[in-house]
Amino acid sequence: MDRDTATADVQTADAQAARKPAADVRRRLPRTDAVLADPRLAEAARRLGRALVKSEAVRALERARAGEIPPESVADAAAGALPPTAGGLRPVVNATGVLLHTNLGRAPLSRAAREAVDAACGPTDVELDLTTGARSRRGASALDALCGAVPHAEAAHVVGNGAAALVLAATALAAGKEIVVSRGEMVEIGDGFRLPDLLVSTGARLREVGTTNRTSAEDYAAAIGPGTGFVLKVHPSNFRITGFTRSASVAELARICPPGVPVVADIGSGLLRPEPVLPDEPDASGWLRAGASLVTASGDKLLGGPQCGLLLGRAGLVRRLARHPLARALRVDKLTLAALEATVRGPAAPVRTMLHADPGGLRARAERLAAELRGADVDARAADSEAAVGGGGAPGVTLPSAAVSLPEEYAGPLRLGEPAVLGRVEGGRCLIDLRTVPPERDADVAEAVRRAAKAAANGRGEE
Ligand SMILES: *Cc1c(COP(=O)(O)O)cnc(C)c1O
Repeated sequence: MDRDTATADVQTADAQAARKPAADVRRRLPRTDAVLADPRLAEAARRLGRALVKSEAVRALERARAGEIPPESVADAAAGALPPTAGGLRPVVNATGVLLHTNLGRAPLSRAAREAVDAACGPTDVELDLTTGARSRRGASALDALCGAVPHAEAAHVVGNGAAALVLAATALAAGKEIVVSRGEMVEIGDGFRLPDLLVSTGARLREVGTTNRTSAEDYAAAIGPGTGFVLKVHPSNFRITGFTRSASVAELARICPPGVPVVADIGSGLLRPEPVLPDEPDASGWLRAGASLVTASGDKLLGGPQCGLLLGRAGLVRRLARHPLARALRVDKLTLAALEATVRGPAAPVRTMLHADPGGLRARAERLAAELRGADVDARAADSEAAVGGGGAPGVTLPSAAVSLPEEYAGPLRLGEPAVLGRVEGGRCLIDLRTVPPERDADVAEAVRRAAKAAANGRGEE
């Protein structure tokens, strides 16, 4: 009997088994309780919950009944199908070359931040002074860390995200009043959300000045009056206008604003201090020094921390925001505060390490991985690549990088693997860009590629 006929026979047998399990299979099928008594499944039930484990056991029993797996491997199949955690979110290796990938949750947390989160999971002194036993300012040490890291910030407040920081500022400082903003800075931040809509939703009115490409300090000055809540400067973080352009700097705006009219500046990215690799990205310290009264930013962009919104600036203003009733609705949990503080105080966040990775070192890793994979008969080669900051930051900036170039058909199996590996499909190849892969994950990536190669070969009907 040749190979094809054998395969056909097996398929016919499978089809029959699916219709009605053979008496022999029925006899050998274990009971659900017996499957759940398997030590691996019993342990998993304690970790993940009984319902989840039972549903996998039932599914494996159905597969055995259909003849897809032998009745003896029901427990194996159930154990193999269990997720690593009870949470639905799966860990992904970001091999896209986009440092801050919004769909992948933006900044990966540092080890220091993860440990701080772990430590804060139980009861913790987030709002209690252990020396006196009295209630304390919520997240005081995280706020102190921020002020320490940002020269010129007299005070800090943290909310859920960058958009929430703007909403709080607009509500507390400009409800029923006007926010003066340039037409060149009315940006959409992604997924259809537009800053002008967000600001108007607070009850503030927008006073648009200038044009898309040119706005001068005089344009702002002419619009400022008794009804002005504040002047808003927005860093156009996700696009660039070039050519015949003009905009007013924060320093100019601070100069023309009368006392009582603050300059609120949205830097977006979350850089606390200047970043030499990204000279066009504003930082909180620089804009406060230039005269902004309040700076807003995202914690999970270039700061490299958890999702949150930072408000930094003059003590009086920050206090007003922190005491506003809306602040209670926008406040962050202890885990965010823990991760944020560790990001600010601890060693460089992974995003920083990725930003500064040496292209030569990345190339060497790509060569090594590609050679190892070729040794396992995988069509892999090292290739030059271009990484980007992403997350709506530093548009037009490309970071020289290196990738392992694989057949395009590996992209699907890599995405579905454990761990999931997300590459970038470009020019008919699947690129594993190493600038966004921590070096300690190289071995995991190689193993994932070998499995994907096997899955792709199976998909083509090869053995
Ligand atoms: C990203 C961004 C925001 C929104 O911040 P989130 O943390 O995503 O809510 C607002 N303004 C600018 C300029 C941004 O780049």
